[in-house]
Amino acid sequence: MKFSKLFWLSLAVAMLGGCGSGESNKAGDAAVADDVIVVSDAELSGNPFMMEWDTPFGVPPFSDIENGHYMPAIKKGILELREEIKAITENPAAPTFENTIVAQEVAGETLDRVATTFGNITGTELDDELRVLQTEIYPLLTRENDAITLNATLFERIQNVYEQRDSLDLNEQDARLLELSHRSFVRAGAALSPEVKTQVANINSEISALTTEFGQNLLGATKAFKLKITDEAQTAGLSDDFKAAVWNEDEGAWIVGLNRSSYETFMTQSEVRELRQQLFDGYRLRSSSGEYDNGPAAIKIAQLRARRAELMGYKSHAHYQLETRMAKTPQTAEDFLLRVWRPGLARATEELADMQNLVGDEFKIAGHDWWHYAEKVRKARYDLDENETKPYFDLEAVRAGAFEMANRLFGLTFDPVDVQGWNPVVTSYDVKDADGEHLGLFMTDMYARDSKRGGAWMSGFRAASNINDENIRPIVTNNLNLSTPPAGEPTLMRFSEVETLFHEFGHGLHGLMTKASYSKFAGTRGSPRDYTEFPAQILEHWTAEPEMLAIYARHYATGDVIPTALVERMRVASNFNQGFETTEFIAASLLDLRWHMLTSAEAAEITDARAFEQKVLSEYGLLDEIEPRYRSQYFSHIFAGGYSAGYYAYLWSEILDSDGFAAFKQAEDIFDPETAARLRKWVYEAGGLREADELYRNFRGQDPSIEPLLEGRGFAVAENDETT
Ligand SMILES: [Zn+2]
Repeated sequence: MKFSKLFWLSLAVAMLGGCGSGESNKAGDAAVADDVIVVSDAELSGNPFMMEWDTPFGVPPFSDIENGHYMPAIKKGILELREEIKAITENPAAPTFENTIVAQEVAGETLDRVATTFGNITGTELDDELRVLQTEIYPLLTRENDAITLNATLFERIQNVYEQRDSLDLNEQDARLLELSHRSFVRAGAALSPEVKTQVANINSEISALTTEFGQNLLGATKAFKLKITDEAQTAGLSDDFKAAVWNEDEGAWIVGLNRSSYETFMTQSEVRELRQQLFDGYRLRSSSGEYDNGPAAIKIAQLRARRAELMGYKSHAHYQLETRMAKTPQTAEDFLLRVWRPGLARATEELADMQNLVGDEFKIAGHDWWHYAEKVRKARYDLDENETKPYFDLEAVRAGAFEMANRLFGLTFDPVDVQGWNPVVTSYDVKDADGEHLGLFMTDMYARDSKRGGAWMSGFRAASNINDENIRPIVTNNLNLSTPPAGEPTLMRFSEVETLFHEFGHGLHGLMTKASYSKFAGTRGSPRDYTEFPAQILEHWTAEPEMLAIYARHYATGDVIPTALVERMRVASNFNQGFETTEFIAASLLDLRWHMLTSAEAAEITDARAFEQKVLSEYGLLDEIEPRYRSQYFSHIFAGGYSAGYYAYLWSEILDSDGFAAFKQAEDIFDPETAARLRKWVYEAGGLREADELYRNFRGQDPSIEPLLEGRGFAVAENDETT
């Protein structure tokens, strides 16, 4: 089996989801390849990474893998990769597509296996040993990656093949591999002078260490905070389910942590204003002082990125990042955000006034009141209580519904299979196409635990490829962070969690359905950040369709389908609080852009992360009562993840998913076979085979329009029609 080189760096640290993580540093210096790495046969004896995996579907033998196996296997993998790269650069034959581009694409198989497993396991089963290993392994991988991407001899050969491209008579898949390989080398700085390459490599190493530190500080700060309630009177408003979920028998107390799901539930339900404030502050002040303070790391990362961009000839990191995205420039992205920001902020101001009316002059609504009073307004206005809907969203039924949707749209089937996962809660499915052909293995891990990072994401243990007819199918994973129900009880989901499940499932299908010959552009890989979310987000539209609800939204105890009247109330209520949600999201997106639009000189002047953040947000007129979805010090998407200058991408992708779903509505059938066939061919199967705007046009038959997005959020279209 062959995996793509760089799979380890892109997948080991970059996972997609309401999440995303991993700095994809692609630059460095050939000199670092001389780092002496030694590993003895004795160190490798009995190491599962050195053996064939005789497991169902070739999943890693999780129970055989011990923490001590990673480092020797990583070293061995690096040594093998070096040999393979050397074989390419020292090949006496003239450079060809096969002996250079394909050879480089498939190099590093062992390293892929180890680093991919390591990346996934540290995301879900992190312990102190693995935490230490992270700080040792990632810098090693970054340096090795740099050594390859800035290897001058290798680049010369790639450049040579690239210049012959018009006479090589390559098929579309091969031509795309050549194009993307060449592009990634150029964008990593392969064409820079040796001195500049060294500077870039040093910056990459520094950033890699800082992003790991940022993530670990955040996890440390998150774990350190506990809201402990011992007096039952202080649980006023909390549902029995929630109380049972957060009850800690050992401590004899209800303990609420900072995972987003518990946080939002508590902020919505708790009647105790003082406790809401404590949790609110616990959440927003994470990593903002003391032992886990992430301010200095954020500033340093922004400075290093600005400096690196400048060395590579760009005005800022954002300019560099957006060059290959749909938006093309930071200004286009900012203008787009502001077009949605203005109606969002206006709506949020109305929402605030509604809540203030509800409490009268008793007190002034503050940030920690928002969820609680929004829920009261929602109940008063729409008579919709979350606890009324949750019994209809049982995890088992929701997941089966997602599978049924994939069946109706694309003919896929999902058979449960007995595969040992990385944790006992993991469930696995053999995914087959309509004709019974195996497409891939799908593994899901739905529950929160202390060792697991927050949020939701899609990842994988093996990428797909089809080189020389060796059809390798992928192993794709989905992770959520649902609260574990009491023993014997069903897992009942909030509707937003249902949407998240469908979202990650969309990323999953992108991975599972790929027809790419090379993993470099299979599924979610090789797609620009502001397009990658589209195949995930479009599936969220199905969740609330009455036809779909009739399939999966069944009462866990009675089996009754969710009542039509309740669905209608949900529909009417769905635009509720959109001002708040739009505003908190765009505030974070603007913050991200502004951190990364800094020139190197501007970045050098920043000494206080929070002060910079407040200055930026006040320029845009953010309300005091709304926090950005992420403050800088816990904005791991951009400081410990792969979303730098790219958080806006979720909203940008919403132009595509809203407009894309409109195609099904126009066909008057949410399972319209022709629209589904185009979606399959040009989106899920194509991956990054062509530029994103072209893929989209082929699917949709036209360029996307922003109007369905504004309508979808319940904003008037006409008043926002001014283009900027
Ligand atoms: Zn996503």
